[in-house]
Amino acid sequence: MLSIQNVTHTYPNGVQALKGVTLTIEKGMFGLLGPNGAGKSSLMRSIATLQQPTQGAVSFDGIDVLEEPMALRRVLGYLPQDFGVYPRGSAYHLLDHLAVLKGFSDRRERKNIVDHLLAETNLYGVRHKRVATFSGGMRRRFGIAQALIGDPKLIIVDEPTAGLDPEERNRFHNLLAEIGEDRVVLLSTHIIEDVTELCASMAILAAGRVLVQGKPAELIQRL
Ligand code: ADP
Ligand code: ADP
Repeated sequence: MLSIQNVTHTYPNGVQALKGVTLTIEKGMFGLLGPNGAGKSSLMRSIATLQQPTQGAVSFDGIDVLEEPMALRRVLGYLPQDFGVYPRGSAYHLLDHLAVLKGFSDRRERKNIVDHLLAETNLYGVRHKRVATFSGGMRRRFGIAQALIGDPKLIIVDEPTAGLDPEERNRFHNLLAEIGEDRVVLLSTHIIEDVTELCASMAILAAGRVLVQGKPAELIQRL
């Protein structure tokens, strides 16, 4: 379980991106819906230990995220919104290198992990192609493969469906639904269908505050 208690974040320029966010997030897919500027990325970066909140507390499965950032990073998979700059290199090699950085030193073990992730994200057939040549949908799926190295229990995906066509989005939804079965997956989006089609619970964030939290079917009716 991911618990976010009264998190505020003020940037050095004075912008108050988060104004006391409290959320309890259980296993499965959780959708954070909100317009641009609502604070979604700020909240996700705070949970992912990329920035220290000005105030508040975050915990995941007994880990105090602000006190033990390294412990959180070991169980975290993060796909940032600006996942858009692609180094040269084939999908296979990039995943293999990342697996080295994650501490998998045995070559054969890495091949098992990487082949499995490529198959899971439907990229096995293009594993020797350069990621720079991939379509938007393939890149997002590659991003998920990256995030899944090491079998993290918490997955954070920031606006992963923006700019995808309906078929790509559908395929991406299926992948997220699969990985959400035994993990906590936190998905931010400004697309209502992402939460109605995928998420068991959701919250609406606007101007740094949680407006409502609940089940998509109940909340969307009230909009
Ligand atoms: P969202 O992801 O919902 O679009 P963000 O968390 O990116 O929202 O942004 C929330 C607010 O914080 C916006 O007003 C944005 O301009 C501001 N903001 C985001 N990042 C920074 C930063 N590094 N420095 C200053 N202001 C920022
Ligand atoms: P998506 O982006 O959802 O994969 P596409 O229509 O772009 O949808 O691609 C469908 C399939 O075609 C891909 O899964 C892949 O197997 C193949 N494909 C598309 N673009 C490329 C490419 N640049 N290099 C290799 N294979 C590709």
